[in-house]
Amino acid sequence: MSVQSESPVWHPFTQHALQAEIPEIARAKGAILQTASGRKILDAISSWWVVTHGHRHPHIMDAIKRQCDVLDHVIFAGFTHEPAERLAQELIRLAPAGLSHVFYSDSGSTAVEVGLKMALGYWHNRGEPRSRILALEHAYHGDTVGTMSAGARGVFNEAYGPLLFDVERLPFPVSGSEQGTFDALEAACRDQAVAALIVEPLILGAGGMLTWPAETLAEMKRICERFDVLLIADEVMTGWGRTGTLFACEQAGITPDILCLAKGITGGSMPLAATLATAPIFEAHYSQDRTRTFYHSSSYTANPIACAAALANVGIWQSEPVGQRISTLSTLQSERLNRFSGDQRFSSLRQCGTIAAMDLACGDPGYLAGVGPRLYDFFLERDVLLRPLGSTIYVLPPYCVTAQDLDKIYDAISDAAELVNAA
Ligand SMILES: *Cc1c(COP(=O)(O)O)cnc(C)c1O
Repeated sequence: MSVQSESPVWHPFTQHALQAEIPEIARAKGAILQTASGRKILDAISSWWVVTHGHRHPHIMDAIKRQCDVLDHVIFAGFTHEPAERLAQELIRLAPAGLSHVFYSDSGSTAVEVGLKMALGYWHNRGEPRSRILALEHAYHGDTVGTMSAGARGVFNEAYGPLLFDVERLPFPVSGSEQGTFDALEAACRDQAVAALIVEPLILGAGGMLTWPAETLAEMKRICERFDVLLIADEVMTGWGRTGTLFACEQAGITPDILCLAKGITGGSMPLAATLATAPIFEAHYSQDRTRTFYHSSSYTANPIACAAALANVGIWQSEPVGQRISTLSTLQSERLNRFSGDQRFSSLRQCGTIAAMDLACGDPGYLAGVGPRLYDFFLERDVLLRPLGSTIYVLPPYCVTAQDLDKIYDAISDAAELVNAA
């Protein structure tokens, strides 16, 4: 069954004039989405990078049901509740050492907005107003005006350009020319009133699944420290095991000043986000003077049901061999990716933990090139959900995916390359 064009629903990142039919998903379990008519689709992108352990993990579903029996929601200014308190303790325990405060919101974009505002508030309240933000070329940090400003400019935000604030963009640290990025970072820190550098650690997601090494991140952190510039780690995608460790920053051995978490924080079941900060950032807002308050909130800040789901997610990391599962998945991914090494149809095979990506050789690689939607349709006909970024095909599955599932995904990728080359 499909929803036809008379539906009043306006879908995200969807050109309705070109998309006639949108399948209706009725159920999901593990790595499988099931349509209302019973068709089964393999979710090879974790429903936009959010589902970690698999759809409807029983511990998370049970925790949500239990929380529904006691407290649905309460205003989080002037009140607190147990799920939020316990989750904050757990996040501080799990995150890189030195982060001491947790601010809740409800999406990756809001987690990043909060991080940017914390950074500017920190400098403002210290009487040393710094407002310049540094970001990486090809970055993606969300779709609100502030996060679009930090992200790369392009077709996605062209119409809103007049509203976006200017940021200093550092060249993406391409392997072998990292020095150019370090030099640009140093020059910006020296010459401008820089509040913070924001990065997606180890892999840039929406910018094309571009990987970069942990040592480069460690060096960037050292440069930031030298100039007292705050480092904001946007781990909205990379968090919760995607890169092979719980958080990507661990691989660089660094603690960012601000850490943004969302997507996998509830295992992909409920919208929730958290922005973690170090003590100095909290203390810059801690004052008898009310003007120094951190003025930010969303209506659903720290929703108890979402916090309960996140606590269950943390529990799964403790009670199940998630680390082992992730390392097995990483190996399975690399074996299948290797199948394409030396294959002229693909280039830039790359992997970061559980995420694998490659570029399909074709005439027009841009996002708006017809190839992305054509690939999407081809994969969906094969009952595989893959959503290429232009000609970049990536596989970002839930951790419960099997070797057979992955074979099905990579067979479809191989066949898709035939289709594109034949066209
Ligand atoms: C998805 C994403 C965001 C935005 O998260 P939403 O929940 O979609 O608002 C921000 N940063 C990164 C790195 C992301 O991948």
